[in-house]
Amino acid sequence: MKIGLDLDGVIGEFEQHFLRYLDLPKHGATHWDDSRFVDNMHLIKDDADFWLSMPTIFPANLLEFTPEVYVTARPIGTSVTVAWLNSHDFPKSEVITVGHNGSKIEALKGRVDLFLDDSIRNYIELNKEGIPTILVTRSHNRSYTVPKNRRVKNLLDFQNRFLQNEDLLNHTINNHYLATL
Ligand SMILES: [Mg+2]
Repeated sequence: MKIGLDLDGVIGEFEQHFLRYLDLPKHGATHWDDSRFVDNMHLIKDDADFWLSMPTIFPANLLEFTPEVYVTARPIGTSVTVAWLNSHDFPKSEVITVGHNGSKIEALKGRVDLFLDDSIRNYIELNKEGIPTILVTRSHNRSYTVPKNRRVKNLLDFQNRFLQNEDLLNHTINNHYLATL
């Protein structure tokens, strides 16, 4: 079983860290294009300190599998991301950086059986491309209707519900799911 992971919103606590770092209002984003993030992204995109100081939302010692690959849209260079993952003791798997708003299709096709991401856009695009993708709940994607077997609360929920339920896992992997909004 090859599982790929997105980083921010799945392992990294991007949002609150971003808002704290830039001293912006702290209420959760209700949609992906929240102007606090869109308008201020340029302030941190090349700031290694920002990326290196991001807390995790899931500790590595609870991870029950080694990811096949990490695929991220972080605008910072891969070496900074690798240093961040190492500093939190995550398994050393390849990191692919597709860049801000970059597509993850190329990086994942034929490489993973399953991917986890908190971006509703990636969730739709990757499922459409036949890369089974599960949406990890964050405040900015909560309003979208997603089938129960394509959404998890967090990585712990994924491990409890999917990794320990072979039928559900196989069903999710083997059934092409055309996600729409
Ligand atoms: Mg993400």
